[in-house]
Amino acid sequence: MERLFQSSVDEVTRLLGLAKPEVSVLEDADAAADELVVSEYEKYVERKFNPEVLAVLKRHDLMGVPVEEKYGGRGARQLVESLTLERLGQTGMGVITFADVHLCLGSLAIQDWGSDEQKERYLPAAAKGEAVFAYGLTEPEAGSDPASLRTSYVKDGSGYRLTGSKYLISNGSIATNLIAFARPADGKGITAFIVDTKKKGFSVDMRLEEKIGLFTSDTSLLTLDDVQVSKEDLLGVEGKGLSVAYSALINGRIGIGSGCLGVMEDCLNQVKERTTTRVQHGKEIARHQLIQKHVAFIESSLESCRWLDYRAAIKKDEYDKDRTDPVLRADADRLSAVAKYMSSRSAFESADRAVQCFGGFGYSIMSPVAKHFLDSRVARIYEGTDEIMELKIASSVLGREFEAYR
Ligand SMILES: Cc1cc2nc3c(=O)[nH]c(=O)nc-3n(C[C@H](O)[C@H](O)[C@H](O)COP(=O)(O)OP(=O)(O)OC[C@H]3O[C@@H](n4cnc5c(N)ncnc54)[C@H](O)[C@@H]3O)c2cc1C
Repeated sequence: MERLFQSSVDEVTRLLGLAKPEVSVLEDADAAADELVVSEYEKYVERKFNPEVLAVLKRHDLMGVPVEEKYGGRGARQLVESLTLERLGQTGMGVITFADVHLCLGSLAIQDWGSDEQKERYLPAAAKGEAVFAYGLTEPEAGSDPASLRTSYVKDGSGYRLTGSKYLISNGSIATNLIAFARPADGKGITAFIVDTKKKGFSVDMRLEEKIGLFTSDTSLLTLDDVQVSKEDLLGVEGKGLSVAYSALINGRIGIGSGCLGVMEDCLNQVKERTTTRVQHGKEIARHQLIQKHVAFIESSLESCRWLDYRAAIKKDEYDKDRTDPVLRADADRLSAVAKYMSSRSAFESADRAVQCFGGFGYSIMSPVAKHFLDSRVARIYEGTDEIMELKIASSVLGREFEAYR
């Protein structure tokens, strides 16, 4: 906990008004992050998926952080979930990708949009880590423009059959359930479904292992070939699936921003340790002013992005209390985009500067900061690229009539 905020637990509790059970979630995140450091590093060096992440998050009761207590979760508000992901983010974006997709894009999509029956069926299993979610919006031909997705569905008796491809799907080959978005074969509108990945016709075509980083996270190409989905597994309202997708992305972007804070924290810790012990020109390199410039950059980025991320989380908590208020929704949407945009860019630049402070060793795959450099780059691409975030933020200021990305 000390390393999370570089101040005492008491101070954080006071500043953010955390209750005792909320502090205990953070203590669990702290223990889980400590446990994950070694396996994350080893798997990264081997360029392999890290199966330990699920086991450790399960062991520390972190698979249902935002899930309501009546469904077996910890009932954490977004701010506490963000702080949890911030601490886990110190171990890198691989862990964050797994957790963000399962918690923010999967569990919260069902909690926010599901029927009582869906919540009872999926959330307790998800909170125990028996169910793992993936989120399938992107397709080979539809990334920044999800409205152009091609996966289609037909009605079949009392349910549906889905056919199409989902590309670059995190947790894709380990998930028990995929939140999939599809359009009717003979009509308009996109609908969200909860797909059972054990159903006939569902296949993992390829685990995408030729990534430039994020090796410890599973990324897959999925095929749905006439996969049966019961009518009880339609999520939200038929034809309104993009509302489900976009609202899940509000949660997800705040979570990615939080993970990026953790990356900056670890970069700062690593840089401090390295530069205060490495001697060149007769003194520790931390005594050279140009090295201090990098330290100052990372620290200032971290502290400013923290405010953005916490502010977005607090706004999201306000919106969660009244999900019918369009102004609160628009504010949460805008602030989550700002937080993700700034934190992901700052995390990547902080990792770059950390590599610089490490010198030649920083350029080695074995250095811990090189892992952040490779892994954090993805945060500027997934859950909305830099460019899409810029256009979204600009139109939130200029007005919808200036929306440039539709
Ligand atoms: C490791 C990894 C994990 C991922 N996990 C998931 C997941 O779990 N689920 C999921 O659904 N998706 C996932 N994605 C997909 C990710 O969300 C998309 O890659 C992203 O949305 C961009 O889509 P694209 O790759 O098709 O790029 P494109 O949309 O083809 O964009 C290419 C470039 O064009 C720019 N561009 C596009 N449209 C505009 C515009 N109107 N104005 C200006 N610039 C524009 C983009 O910003 C980008 O720079 C993942 C991606 C990666 C790399």
